[in-house]
Amino acid sequence: MKNGRQLDLAFELPEDDPYALLDPAVAQAISDPIAEIEESQRRNLELALKKLTGLNISLILTDNASRLISAKKNGFFYVVRLHHMFLGADPKVAGELARFIVDGNKKSSMILDNFIKEHRDEIAPPPPRKQRISTKGEFHDLQEMFDYINSRYFKNTIEAKITWGNVVRRRKRQKMQMGSYNASQKMIRIHPALDQYFVPSYYVSFVIYHEMLHAHFGVDNRSAITGRRIIHPAKLEFAEKEFADYEKAHAWEEKNIARLMRY
Ligand SMILES: [Zn+2]
Repeated sequence: MKNGRQLDLAFELPEDDPYALLDPAVAQAISDPIAEIEESQRRNLELALKKLTGLNISLILTDNASRLISAKKNGFFYVVRLHHMFLGADPKVAGELARFIVDGNKKSSMILDNFIKEHRDEIAPPPPRKQRISTKGEFHDLQEMFDYINSRYFKNTIEAKITWGNVVRRRKRQKMQMGSYNASQKMIRIHPALDQYFVPSYYVSFVIYHEMLHAHFGVDNRSAITGRRIIHPAKLEFAEKEFADYEKAHAWEEKNIARLMRY
């Protein structure tokens, strides 16, 4: 937005946990023959580990590529999380797993290391991070506003996507960036603080319009004199004034910026 309010992004990309645990109960419920076989293998391994350790083990299978084995005491249970590869473990490996659990994950084990090396190809690479797009807020629908602005001001030429950003809440803010445009992703992100009941739609629209101008003019505008990149070239600032509620939007921001920053 305005100079002086521009600063580092307060957003973080939404992140899914790609390593959702396969809940045994869920696996059982699925009437899928492979899931059923896996569940019976899981139960066998759980039983073997119970016998070997003398502990009340609850075994959960994971696809966690960075932590293949973990054990944690939880009340009367030992929750043991193992990568799927261990379903094929022979008794020798199972014995080592048991020792590993009892020792509290402290000692390394040649047998386990070798087993993991042999089964390395079973570790799936993490899936590519997906941008979760959310346009419908509680109070404002970004896509609806974007489409209207695109047709009214840009002859529908802006191809960017739009989403509410994820915010990292901060105790104290110095500045706040209401929107951002990422040229390589062609993605406009709008600060979720704008999805509040007291924020008028003409203000949200103005923030969207501003980011659409970044998409329209491109992000590589350089000074003819210094060659340095100009974030807000004169043509952008000029075009900004064509927004119907330009004055109103600025006045509203002036009056409400402190309230927005408390978000
Ligand atoms: Zn800007």
